[in-house]
Amino acid sequence: MIWLGPAGIPTVCKERNTLDGIKTVSQLGLNAMEVEFVRGVKMSLEIAKQAGEIAKELNVRLSVHAPYFINLCSKENQKVENSKSMILASAERAEAMHADIVVFHPGFYGKLSTHEALEKVKKECEDLGDRLRSMGIKKVKLGLETTGKQSTFGTLEEILQVSKDVKNCVPVVDFAHIFARQGGIIDYSKIFDYLKPLKLNHLHTHFTCVQFSLSSIGKGNERYHLELKVKKPDFELLAREIVKRNLNITIISESPVLEQDSLKMKAILEKINK
Ligand SMILES: [Zn+2]
Repeated sequence: MIWLGPAGIPTVCKERNTLDGIKTVSQLGLNAMEVEFVRGVKMSLEIAKQAGEIAKELNVRLSVHAPYFINLCSKENQKVENSKSMILASAERAEAMHADIVVFHPGFYGKLSTHEALEKVKKECEDLGDRLRSMGIKKVKLGLETTGKQSTFGTLEEILQVSKDVKNCVPVVDFAHIFARQGGIIDYSKIFDYLKPLKLNHLHTHFTCVQFSLSSIGKGNERYHLELKVKKPDFELLAREIVKRNLNITIISESPVLEQDSLKMKAILEKINK
């Protein structure tokens, strides 16, 4: 099964709220939406429940993106604690809306070595897992996203390692971030092979085209998102790999035109599937 939809409320949706966003996603012929708490978790649990009911009725798969200002690697305990509170508040709403994943960017290396950062993220994710369980949240997984800048924790290798070692953690593959971070190179087949040991029954991903700057050969930093038509990277190559492998996958469009590019992705996938 392939789940497609926008990161947030569709651009064409006149009412700028989650409930109407879900309805619009369904009317457009899409079946996924990521609820964005990127600037803070402001949604009430009641609205989250209503969103979950509408999504269930319309067969729209929901996911949640936690706020951007999260840093599990911070040296300041208070900052780590605030980050964890934001993830837990996002997860609480995810559970209420029957979403099975809360996506977040784990943090910045800062002065830590890559190994120290890995250990720190693992430790904090273990604690998050314990706290989710004590809150009675069972279905929501911690989705650690691959990140697009050299300064941020989150190469595919790092995310895979946390996912292997810590219960409740799964990778969220942001293809644009991998492409930018590797200086404009991406091998979809290699990524899927690499994830195989995790035996995931569903993979959550983000796709957009992206402008990046090169920091050295094979290394880059994400700058801004671009529309699908610029083919940086080329979605069709990814689509072919997904169809070939018959993956159970969600692809959230983070393009500047959100759902409009989800519809283009859908058309490309249908063309290949014929
Ligand atoms: Zn993200």
